[in-house]
Amino acid sequence: MAPIGIPELKAIVGMFARSAAASVSKVSYERRQRRAGNPRAESEVKGPKTKEAHMAEKKLNNLFLDTLKDIYFAERQILKNLPKMAKAARSPELKNAFLKHRDQTEQHVERLQEVFELVGKRAQAKTCEAIKGILEEGEEIMDEYGASEALDAGLLAAAQAVEHYEMSRYGTLKTWAGQLGMKEAVGILDETLQEEKETDALLSSLAQSAVNREAA
Ligand code: FE
Ligand code: FE
Repeated sequence: MAPIGIPELKAIVGMFARSAAASVSKVSYERRQRRAGNPRAESEVKGPKTKEAHMAEKKLNNLFLDTLKDIYFAERQILKNLPKMAKAARSPELKNAFLKHRDQTEQHVERLQEVFELVGKRAQAKTCEAIKGILEEGEEIMDEYGASEALDAGLLAAAQAVEHYEMSRYGTLKTWAGQLGMKEAVGILDETLQEEKETDALLSSLAQSAVNREAA
């Protein structure tokens, strides 16, 4: 093979120089366009990423709203159900716990209406089969154990299932509100989340005390 002469070397160096200049000028063209605030240049540079981010945000917005409608349905059902549970409960402590939580639940409904307002949507309920099932189980316990000493233990278990469902929903909604940059909604959702947790803890302590001993 013949050694590379000066003219060939010059040609190779020239090729590299032209390709380097081309990519430098493309980058500086985009920079200039972006500095000038040309949105098309912006979307050319990071088009797919921005689009994806936008899609993800849109999906999370929809999920947030759907879940808000779900828990709005749930809270209103729970509001109707708690007086029945209070009426059925045998122990005065459990009766009081249900009545106190009924009042708190009224506030939960109002807080959700505030969050709907914050996102500029009409407060709307979406049927939640999960809470319907959990509440139906509570009704079954009232029917089947109405005359039994184990009734309160059953009511406690049913009520804790309700609280756990709510805690999971509010925990999720609070996280999503944070990711969507809705600071005020985070605070409102957290207030309710804390009350659900306190109620759950109260029910746990009742379950460990008199109520379950009586059942045994
Ligand atoms: Fe609630
Ligand atoms: Fe609750």
